[in-house]
Amino acid sequence: MKLNRRIFMGSSAAAMASLSSPAVLADGHGKPRVVVIGGGAGGATVAKYLAKDSKGEIDVTLVEPTRTYFTCFFSNLYLGGFKDIDDLGHTYGTLAAKYGINVVHDWAVNVDRDSKTVTLAGGSKLPYDKLVLSPGIDFVEGAVEGWSIAAQNAMPHAYKGGSQTELLKAQVMAMPEGGTFAMVAPPNPYRCPPGPYERISMVAHVLKANNPTAKIIVADPKDKFSKQALFQEGWANHYAGMVDWIGSDFGGGNVSVDPNAMTITIDGEETKVDACNVIPAMKAGRIAELAGVTDGNWAPVNAADMSTKADADVYVLGDSSQQGDMPKSGFSANSQAKVCANAVRGALTGSKVFPAKFSNTCWSLIDTDDGVKVGATYEATDEKIAKVDGFISATGEDSATRKATYEESEGWYAGITADMFG
Ligand SMILES: Cc1cc2nc3c(=O)[nH]c(=O)nc-3n(C[C@H](O)[C@H](O)[C@H](O)COP(=O)(O)OP(=O)(O)OC[C@H]3O[C@@H](n4cnc5c(N)ncnc54)[C@H](O)[C@@H]3O)c2cc1C
Repeated sequence: MKLNRRIFMGSSAAAMASLSSPAVLADGHGKPRVVVIGGGAGGATVAKYLAKDSKGEIDVTLVEPTRTYFTCFFSNLYLGGFKDIDDLGHTYGTLAAKYGINVVHDWAVNVDRDSKTVTLAGGSKLPYDKLVLSPGIDFVEGAVEGWSIAAQNAMPHAYKGGSQTELLKAQVMAMPEGGTFAMVAPPNPYRCPPGPYERISMVAHVLKANNPTAKIIVADPKDKFSKQALFQEGWANHYAGMVDWIGSDFGGGNVSVDPNAMTITIDGEETKVDACNVIPAMKAGRIAELAGVTDGNWAPVNAADMSTKADADVYVLGDSSQQGDMPKSGFSANSQAKVCANAVRGALTGSKVFPAKFSNTCWSLIDTDDGVKVGATYEATDEKIAKVDGFISATGEDSATRKATYEESEGWYAGITADMFG
């Protein structure tokens, strides 16, 4: 079945099937105020649903520094030549004009949970009744020996959307004939579990066409990875002999890089590389740490409404949250945002709150029309967001199934971006 926008949104609405008791608003200053930090998959969605469904009863402010959000989702397809960079960019005009969201293009630099205010880089302060954080990820300093954020131009991470992805693509295209592309893959947990391996597939796809004697090395601190059998089957079928994946059993976790010399050393063996994609260990976006709602890495949340364990008036969505079984994906963040919007609106206006239900699917493209997927549904338990049931593409599937899976992913991309920004 092709997943189109209507089906995508309809299934989310259907997930909110029954009612629970309304909460009470305690508010001494007119309309309740919600501040959302981060205008990505979690933040744009929660802001939109809060504003749309409350029909003006809640003041919603969305703080996001960039005027155009470039999705990480489908950024690998840009690397592979299947999408243009402009296909990935989305703006906030409709959220402001259609839903009345106060969109502020600035960085949030501090959160004072006692006075319930957010400070912006520009100096102004935003008071809130409820605060939602969806700031994505930051990198753990010193996670890869020899690499720091100062080296991101020589060895891009391309794990935040936009210019980093363009830089990595330019470096791949500039590789000399027969050159070497290296990736340092991240340890769990990290944003988009299949992302590094879809990226390898897409880099292999462009190299096969433009530079067929080039080589790809992956140094991986893990001994297994998402959709591994599917990717390895695809690499063998489409890119035979090109990809050398070195897992932790073979020293893949014992890695250092030298961005000046453009070398990578894996388990003591140094290799000169022509392009190097370093994806370090990750943690919650820095503002979550500054708000004091993380455990040092991620922000533990309650599954029923995504409120933090540290503060019932502060919610964390998406990659920054530590919620249980859901992978860190755009689909997950969007799904969590709808649950959170419903719960926050209920808490502030007394509207009906529905039981939390979540879903996720991660599609990956291995080669032209060779799409695979993995997904699951989830529910809220007292401890966590818990997996209910799941599915995964099979190895050896016929080409019509794989093509249909790819087309489904295109429908999903159109649906989620319209759901976030339309
Ligand atoms: C290569 C790659 C491929 C991927 N493919 C897929 C896919 O196919 N499907 C899928 O579902 N997911 C995919 N993902 C994962 C997906 O991009 C993330 O999981 C998703 O974007 C998480 O949403 P979020 O709201 O947590 O963070 P983001 O979408 O990253 O949004 C965070 C926003 O917060 C803003 N921000 C950060 N700090 C501050 C601050 N202090 N003040 C104000 N704003 C701030 C940032 O500018 C950013 O816009 C992929 C990721 C990568 C890297």
